[in-house]
Amino acid sequence: MKKKALIFGVTGQDGSYLSKLLLKKGYEVHGVKRRSSTINTYRIDDIYNDPLLKKNKFFLHYGDVTDSLSVNNIIEKIRPNEIYNLAAQSYVAVSFEIPEYTSNADALGTLRILEAITKIDKNIKFYQAGSSEMFGKVNEIPQTEKTSFYPRSPYGVSKLYSHWITINYRESYNLFACNGILFNHESPFRGETFVTKKVVKGLFNIKQKKQKKLFVGNIYSKRDWGHAKDYVEAMWKMLQQKKPDDYVICTGKQYSIKYFINLTAKKLGIKIKWKGIGINEKAYDQDNKCIIECKKKYFRPTEVDTLVGSYAKAQRILKWSPTHDINSLVDDMIDYEYSNLR
Ligand code: NAP
Ligand code: GDP
Repeated sequence: MKKKALIFGVTGQDGSYLSKLLLKKGYEVHGVKRRSSTINTYRIDDIYNDPLLKKNKFFLHYGDVTDSLSVNNIIEKIRPNEIYNLAAQSYVAVSFEIPEYTSNADALGTLRILEAITKIDKNIKFYQAGSSEMFGKVNEIPQTEKTSFYPRSPYGVSKLYSHWITINYRESYNLFACNGILFNHESPFRGETFVTKKVVKGLFNIKQKKQKKLFVGNIYSKRDWGHAKDYVEAMWKMLQQKKPDDYVICTGKQYSIKYFINLTAKKLGIKIKWKGIGINEKAYDQDNKCIIECKKKYFRPTEVDTLVGSYAKAQRILKWSPTHDINSLVDDMIDYEYSNLR
């Protein structure tokens, strides 16, 4: 019989890639979307135009992880084999502004789903979208499944609650529940406020003369960036193992934001030169026009300065390793901007 998956957060970056992956694998896919005043399904609209994907059945349901009733009703109605909890207020900077909502969705949302699973069907497998932000002020380099946590934002703290409540329900009720500890992963469908998408889109628009300047924050923090397409494959693999467990998913390589900007500019054929220091550091183009400035408002009250993981466990057990590096990631993101132009 066809396997059924239920994805909370189906309209997000990862939700869209995971839906397509599971449909290709022959799953019946159900996704939970929030009601919003504007259409928020642009990342999954192409599923309806792809006969190959559509024929395997794709359904959307209104719901919200802050609302136990909807969580319970949907799980009861669908009775999926697998649940992927990708739903979250996922933007670290905003979590400082709406910490209570972030905790409700990113921490208690997970509890609501786990509780529903224990009441409705303990055989449902569960994936929790954990984050390298839980490592925060890192205690070890590289970070592994054994590295202790030190979150630096309401987002990181909420994800840490979800991490531990998932382990607790696994141990208490014998659930097949896994935590993915995913490092930053990007794609053409990354939210537009995240630094990679902001840089690619901003520099692309500057190149097309549609935008004059790009404003960024701390360009010296370092991230381990992978491609979302690779990372959703790891989520699925976790739920296909004999035993539930937790896995770090990353590339093992880190780069600064400044490096990412320079690489993107180079690929777009923009020659940039940096001048000044600290908040006054600015980038100029070949005509000596300032095209990038740093702005205080994009700095965070507490920063995660450096993140780099080891995917040795995922490689050993899941047979997973990344297929994209920073070059192919940026190429993919730039190609998408060109295709939009066309
Ligand atoms: P994203 O693009 O921001 O997508 C988040 C999804 O969650 C969207 O579909 C959003 O719906 C939905 N959502 C938000 N609040 C909700 C609520 N209260 N109830 C139901 N749905 C809600 O994030 P992503 O990049 O795909 O990441 C997927 C998950 O992995 C998130 O939990 C994120 O925190 C985690 N994660 C991401 C990364 C990364 O680098 N991308 C790294 C580690 C962990 P709308 O479309 O309506 O906003
Ligand atoms: P995060 O790792 O989940 O917080 O992903 P982001 O893409 O939001 O941020 C990655 C890093 O880029 C953080 O250290 C930010 O402080 C830094 N950064 C620098 N400038 C910007 C900016 O303009 N926007 C965002 N989102 N991050 C920025």
